[in-house]
Amino acid sequence: MAQRIVIENAAIATVDARDTEYTSGHVVVADEVIESVGAGRAPEGLTDVVRRIDATGHLVTPGLVNTHHHFYQWITRGLATDHNLFDWLVALYPTWARIDEQMTYAAAQGSLAMMARGGVTTAMDHHYVFPKGSGDLSGAIIRAARETGVRFTLARGSMDRSEKDGGLPPDFAVETLDGALAATEATVNEHHDASFGAMTQVAVAPCSPFSVSTELLRQGARLARHLGVRLHTHGSETVEEEKFCHELFGMGPTDYFESTGWLGEDVWMAHCVHMNDSDIDAFARTRTGVAHCPSSNARLAAGIARVPDMLAAGVPVGLGVDGTASNESGELHTELRNALLVNRLGPHREAALDARRALRLGTYGGAQVLGRSAEIGSLEPGKLADLVLWRLDTLAHASIADPVTALVLGAAAPVTLSLVGGRAVVEDGRLLHVDEDAIARSTRDEARRLARIAAGD
Ligand SMILES: [Zn+2]
Repeated sequence: MAQRIVIENAAIATVDARDTEYTSGHVVVADEVIESVGAGRAPEGLTDVVRRIDATGHLVTPGLVNTHHHFYQWITRGLATDHNLFDWLVALYPTWARIDEQMTYAAAQGSLAMMARGGVTTAMDHHYVFPKGSGDLSGAIIRAARETGVRFTLARGSMDRSEKDGGLPPDFAVETLDGALAATEATVNEHHDASFGAMTQVAVAPCSPFSVSTELLRQGARLARHLGVRLHTHGSETVEEEKFCHELFGMGPTDYFESTGWLGEDVWMAHCVHMNDSDIDAFARTRTGVAHCPSSNARLAAGIARVPDMLAAGVPVGLGVDGTASNESGELHTELRNALLVNRLGPHREAALDARRALRLGTYGGAQVLGRSAEIGSLEPGKLADLVLWRLDTLAHASIADPVTALVLGAAAPVTLSLVGGRAVVEDGRLLHVDEDAIARSTRDEARRLARIAAGD
């Protein structure tokens, strides 16, 4: 018999295709899936109810989905704070190239804890720094995600174009072409789960046009399609990247990606800030997804992505915090808020995005770009029970007229409960499966150890 959790008396934003909302409604969870969602109280006569929650004063939404991150950066926050992307990368690569398994594990724990505590139920990590002899970094990251209790995609990154080949990273920070492909394939074979409700998936994710050879992009795309997994990379982030692509490849980033097999419905790309109309058309035509990272784009002075135009063209768009070396907060609520605010500074002004579209980007849009919209991203019967109860009846939010507006434009709302596949991960703002204080200490210690090693002590 199914074990049921009944949630009642909540405002509910389902983020389904019709944006159905209830001012006072119920959600019934049966084991790992949503059994029913609707107005008023839950149906009478439910059996095997293990928990009944009076959610008065709360908004229930799908769990937030983060679509772009670099966990290891948790231990290099607050450095190179006044740089553009390329200068920031060049400043930080030498430190990043010294990470080891213990540091990577601690940084992943910190990143995951921060996101889970703030209502993220599906996380991702684009990890592309694999120093020689640094241990099983992918295994350490996946272990941290399992322990935290969130659903997880590891985008197994790679870099093989160093300074000597005209790239940006130093020679000692990159892998070989063959080494990167073999390690990526092994990671997929060991960890990727394609089944409904999978907790761990793996994507093939060479880092960017300026740190990866054309051959690694080509062969990476072939490998991903051979293995049946998704493809992820950075694209069209800055004017400097655009210039780099024109100088080296004689074309802009989107044309370059198309020429290497990197547009398609199994691809999602971070940033996509510098896109002309024909680039957006190419993404829409091929159903290539975008991870919009407004805080990072502002922190690195990259520009404003044309999200309203992408959505109008039918491009799937999710949200990403990006690495916390370029977005020190590391939580997704800021991205909901900044997606709305930053896009209103663009040409569409007040028509750019509203609170409901911002919430959709952070939930269903994220599920789409991760290829999981049949499982997560909206509250509908049969989907996985990944949901959050946001408390909106305290000082910060109680006087805001509309609950979705309160969630998106108000301060970060406390999480009373978050469920991942029906299993509680956060309760009354506290992580249930990991020790937040211990993680704060270990991340501080590992950040200091990395700084010492990088300084040559
Ligand atoms: Zn990134």
